[in-house]
Amino acid sequence: MGLRVGVFGAGGRMGATVCAAIVGDPALDLTAAIDPHHSGLDLRSVTGVESNLQVQADAAALEHDQPDVMVDFTHLEAACENLRWCAARGVHAVVGTTGFTDDDLDGFRDAFTSSNCVIAPNFAIGAILMMRFAELAAPWFETAEVIELHHDQKLDAPSGTAMLTVERMAEASREWAPDPTRTEIVAGARGGAGPGGIRVHSVRLRGLVAHQEVLLGTTGQSLSIRHDSYDRSSFMPGVVLAVKEVGNRPGLTIGLDSLLDL
Ligand code: NAP
Repeated sequence: MGLRVGVFGAGGRMGATVCAAIVGDPALDLTAAIDPHHSGLDLRSVTGVESNLQVQADAAALEHDQPDVMVDFTHLEAACENLRWCAARGVHAVVGTTGFTDDDLDGFRDAFTSSNCVIAPNFAIGAILMMRFAELAAPWFETAEVIELHHDQKLDAPSGTAMLTVERMAEASREWAPDPTRTEIVAGARGGAGPGGIRVHSVRLRGLVAHQEVLLGTTGQSLSIRHDSYDRSSFMPGVVLAVKEVGNRPGLTIGLDSLLDL
């Protein structure tokens, strides 16, 4: 028998994709699907995933049959409650839900003593590598700009991944050339200034999913580092890796970097 895995938010866009990834991995068994608004329904009818599980309203249904690992792709408030449940029951947690505050994270750090928790704001392994490569390249270039491109339903700009990229580049080098622009004919033409003054540009286009390009320039040469997520399946190798590894990572782990030995 494989590692027993449950999914909070099983009826959601990411949760349904996670259920399919778990069912498709021979080392994992999908043993629980939680989603209050789909409770009582067959998981197959909700997600199309080949499974006989019934969706349950909440974690109370798991009291006598706890999974080894719960995956959470829900909403901020629900995720905080779900993580408290995992920590109290000694169940490992893998979390993709975004928007936790530093206080939330401190609370999880204190709570996860008998089981472990991995929280990653971006599970796409290529995106993690893009950020790492940008950080490595930063000290060798004096100018850099980040262009993030997303679908036309995205409400926030710039993306969390773009901000994290710029923060890490600014940490890796403090030697960025000042912006030469004196006159901006169209306001915002130079994008927004992030940490270190590095410019961030947000593109919103119908048909896109999640993409980012980091451009670095120095005398006589430039370097472009680009990552493209074409659909939600791009996040699944990272989620499955975290599910398999969380048991070996005591306490709270933020981000996939350490799981990839970066
Ligand atoms: P979604 O489609 O709205 O899915 C969330 C699901 O969770 C919904 O079915 C929701 O039901 C359900 N839910 C609400 N409260 C719950 C609870 N207490 N227990 C269990 N399930 C509950 O959203 P999504 O697009 O899948 O995104 C989910 C989260 O993942 C967001 O925070 C998003 O930013 C994040 N995300 C992270 C990554 C990453 O790589 N880390 C990638 C993509 C998305 P109702 O809709 O009926 O309330």
